[in-house]
Amino acid sequence: MNGLMMSGELLVSSLIVHADRHHGDTEIVSRRVEGDIHRYTYRDCHRRARQLANVLTGLGVKHSDRVGTLAWNGYRHLELYYAISGMGAVMHTINPRLHPDQVAYIGNHAEDQYLFFDLTFLPTVKLIAAHCTTVKAFIAMTDRAHMPQDTGIANLLCYEELIDAASDDYAWPSFDEDTASALCYTSGTTGNPKGVLYSHRSTLLHTYSAALPDALNCSARDVILPVVPMFHVNAWGLPYIACMVGAKLVLPGAGMDGKSLYELLETEQVTMAAGVPTIWQGLLSYVETNGFKFSTMHRTVIGGAACPPAMLRKFQDDFGVHVLHAWGMTELSPLGTVCALKPKQLAASPEERYAVQAKQGRAVFGIDMKIVGEDGHALPWDGKTSGELLVRGPWVVNSYFRNEGDADLQIDIEGNGWFPTGDIAHIDADGYLHITDRNKDVIKSGGEWIGSIDLENIAMAHPAVFMAACIAVKHPKWDERPLLVVVKKPGADLDRDALLAFYEGKIAKWWTPDDVAFVDALPMGATGKILKNRLREQFINYTLPTV
Ligand code: ADP
Repeated sequence: MNGLMMSGELLVSSLIVHADRHHGDTEIVSRRVEGDIHRYTYRDCHRRARQLANVLTGLGVKHSDRVGTLAWNGYRHLELYYAISGMGAVMHTINPRLHPDQVAYIGNHAEDQYLFFDLTFLPTVKLIAAHCTTVKAFIAMTDRAHMPQDTGIANLLCYEELIDAASDDYAWPSFDEDTASALCYTSGTTGNPKGVLYSHRSTLLHTYSAALPDALNCSARDVILPVVPMFHVNAWGLPYIACMVGAKLVLPGAGMDGKSLYELLETEQVTMAAGVPTIWQGLLSYVETNGFKFSTMHRTVIGGAACPPAMLRKFQDDFGVHVLHAWGMTELSPLGTVCALKPKQLAASPEERYAVQAKQGRAVFGIDMKIVGEDGHALPWDGKTSGELLVRGPWVVNSYFRNEGDADLQIDIEGNGWFPTGDIAHIDADGYLHITDRNKDVIKSGGEWIGSIDLENIAMAHPAVFMAACIAVKHPKWDERPLLVVVKKPGADLDRDALLAFYEGKIAKWWTPDDVAFVDALPMGATGKILKNRLREQFINYTLPTV
């Protein structure tokens, strides 16, 4: 017997309709590539998204066609999010920090029909335009006055001109909620990037769950600044969440440096920001150097890479900003776990609380997780037995776009498919996940595993260390041993022995790195994460003093 309740498709367009109707005068503030600050409201955003849907229809964009973007976090990008998905086409965000060859590869693989871009990325578009075999026109996201001249791009259109000429009379169509809404390729640190194709249903369910109090805890009283880019995994879903709850959105554009971010956080009275640890490192060092405080920001979501406990303490103890440590992946839309505390932990000592907060947290409702040993059997949740993390749920990838590489699901005895994350973790009895490493980054020493994240976290707690990464280096006796690669804080005085002495008493002695290499900078990937594979190549012939 079926229930007797109304049914309706879960569609991305309903989010902007809701934001317009219930939070029509709530602001969206953007730092533009043109240099100024732009502000308007959800009502304006919805109107222009409808105009844009008419533009796209006029250009011949059909249901399920892919439309690409190369853009920062800004209001025009947001309009594209809603116009493209809302009309039933597929919003394909491309990471502009990738090599132009990879951008062209991704655009061709996705068969993008149009490519919208921020002016910053004109040089990339110039390089790839002739190689984008399916793109009918390139649209510069600016007005006529800022349109670039003599670009050599044959079919170049102006965003604002197209919008100005379009009517805002557009009714969002209804269709099957399993229809594809957005496409995002993984970073492709190994091999070619693979496309993860989100659906309207997966996006809406992810949005509901991610907004919950023990997840990202968002409401109409929030002012949210996503530093995480809208060009990678939908800025952790925040553009959708903000509409669902009616929060004010502050979009930082290209201004990812400490000074630009701090300015926006203060002038727009941001209550919550989200980003990867390397971004916060830049912001914290700017704020500390200038003796500033955060006057309205009271929490920050840190994920994408492990949040060093030293950063957690700095935010909370020195600045009164609560840290929400989160874990996710492109293949998970991206949210999997968030570290929200339970009452018994709130009552515990600060040290115990910090130990919990350094973990990646509990699964949000909708995500099922387990850790398995090499034989595929589930391991106990005892906070110490570690294995590979597998997940499943309605916003987890089932297979990659156009079957490019299998998602390689592992099937359990009940016939359920689980996505192997490639992360090594343990889970405690309260359900808190702790990632110790990525499969390919783990250091295998004498048949035992050393977690590189723990070693980096200790280094990051040293006052003279700005950034640290730990990699495996070949060793004739032990197979691999840890090498710590460090960027010192400007003007800091630190040598190898002093840093290694800092490990004493904090970990098992045999985990201590064999050596420290000081460098000026670490290789960073397109999503702001340290590229350990690049670092391993760089130090491939490194001779450890213990050899
Ligand atoms: P890529 O890094 O290939 O672009 P994603 O952006 O999807 O892929 O990143 C997913 C990976 O990032 C995870 O599998 C995990 O290794 C790492 N990661 C994400 N959040 C955290 C976290 N809080 N702590 C440790 N690792 C994390």
